[in-house]
Amino acid sequence: MSSSNDVMDTEMYNEKNRIKSFENWPHDTGNITKEVMAKNGFYHQPDHIDNGGYDLVRCVFCDIHIYEWQPNDDPNVEHQKANPDCLFAKLNKPQTNLTPNEFMEIVDEKNSIKIKQYFEMSKKIQIERIEKIKNIMKKL
Ligand SMILES: [Zn+2]
Repeated sequence: MSSSNDVMDTEMYNEKNRIKSFENWPHDTGNITKEVMAKNGFYHQPDHIDNGGYDLVRCVFCDIHIYEWQPNDDPNVEHQKANPDCLFAKLNKPQTNLTPNEFMEIVDEKNSIKIKQYFEMSKKIQIERIEKIKNIMKKL
């Protein structure tokens, strides 16, 4: 969780900023124009270009990433397939129509996922440390 990512996240809550992120978006036909993608909570974050990640998008509301888009894909359907728990995708309505409560719920859900991931990671590191210590103690 780097601070630069957090800044980016905050900016990407704004749909206009998300549209801007699609400056080099390779698709401009079908259901996956930059406007539709931004409406669905996505921003463009090209990654591992050689493996097809040139059209990788990330959801600002749940952090899921999806790539290798086809013109006939329905961004909301793909979104819910990739993360059935994304509240924004489940509500499936324009961001401007969200009530403050819904928006808060969405952000809370994302934060609780991040906190869970953080604890899972800490637990893993802790278990690895204990294993290492056990091995060292065996050799004593
Ligand atoms: Zn999402």
